[in-house]
Amino acid sequence: MVTPPQTDASRIRDTLLAGTRFLLTSHARPDGDSLGSQLCLGAALRQLGKQVRIVNADPAPESYAFLPDVSTIEIAESVEEMFDAVVVLECSSLDRTGVRELERQTLLNIDHHAGNAMYGAINWHDVSACACAELVSDLVEALGATLTQAMATQLYVAILTDTGSFRHANITDRTFRICQRIAATGVDPATIAAEVYNNGSVGRLRATGTLLHQMRLEHENQIAVLTLTDAMLAEAGCASDDLEGIVNLPLAARDVQAVIFLKESGGELRVSLRSKDAIDIRQVAVSYGGGGHRNASGFTVEHPTTDTREQVIKRVAGVITVP
Ligand code: AMP
Ligand code: MN
Repeated sequence: MVTPPQTDASRIRDTLLAGTRFLLTSHARPDGDSLGSQLCLGAALRQLGKQVRIVNADPAPESYAFLPDVSTIEIAESVEEMFDAVVVLECSSLDRTGVRELERQTLLNIDHHAGNAMYGAINWHDVSACACAELVSDLVEALGATLTQAMATQLYVAILTDTGSFRHANITDRTFRICQRIAATGVDPATIAAEVYNNGSVGRLRATGTLLHQMRLEHENQIAVLTLTDAMLAEAGCASDDLEGIVNLPLAARDVQAVIFLKESGGELRVSLRSKDAIDIRQVAVSYGGGGHRNASGFTVEHPTTDTREQVIKRVAGVITVP
């Protein structure tokens, strides 16, 4: 009998099957993909009789309260306990977890971001996946766990949000095969879409209005610049973690090729970048020490100066100008 070659995915599966106690984590300020991926893999491992803790640096945004088992996620800055392995999902570098002391553990790194730092004992890095949840779906199958409706809901939320409601790059036949399996469990896509998109706070709606009202358009309308301050959030009555997706809104205009979303808070500047398909906006994020994907990336400037904002606009203009 021929033994199939070991892949990173199969080595991760074997490590999980062999162990009994696991920690799952993901990046700080979790989004739909990080939450859905962790919760679904956690459920699969528990189904197999494993002990699982899920620990994140930051709580799930209120808008994800409907996700099955989201309340089981613990919030902590560090974890002392040793595990058979720690699965780090959807995280390009270990420090982006915001959870300390993890370097002592056996790390299993599962991610789809370009430029993953390969910090794991095993690294399953697949940039062709539209969401980390695609990899989790394959892993759940490989582990021999049954995809329940709750797990399918977690996966669907991850895929729906990470693809910008099925609009971004990397959506493939694999994506739809996974969605077919999800739908077969009885999950209703319309119900989940309503939970995710028609369930926001009035504060978020007000903040969106202010942001768009104050939007600047640069370089013949090709670059939209949104600026958010703590004062604007307070005025609108919007939580700082209730902004997911707003950065994409200016892309709806034909002329807009890229969006710069500047979030000023406590002296620090967090920047989210978005671009239309052909434009590699990630280069700009990388030039500031950040990362992400070709059309969605970000970085943080700890000590911004008065020039920072104009410099970011200039660098973005540099990547959208056709040579
Ligand atoms: P966001 O604008 O926060 O939605 O982030 C867009 C993408 O860029 C996500 O895939 C993030 O994981 C990634 N990203 C954001 N900030 C950073 C950073 N400081 N370092 C690396 N990747 C980042
Ligand atoms: Mn993702």
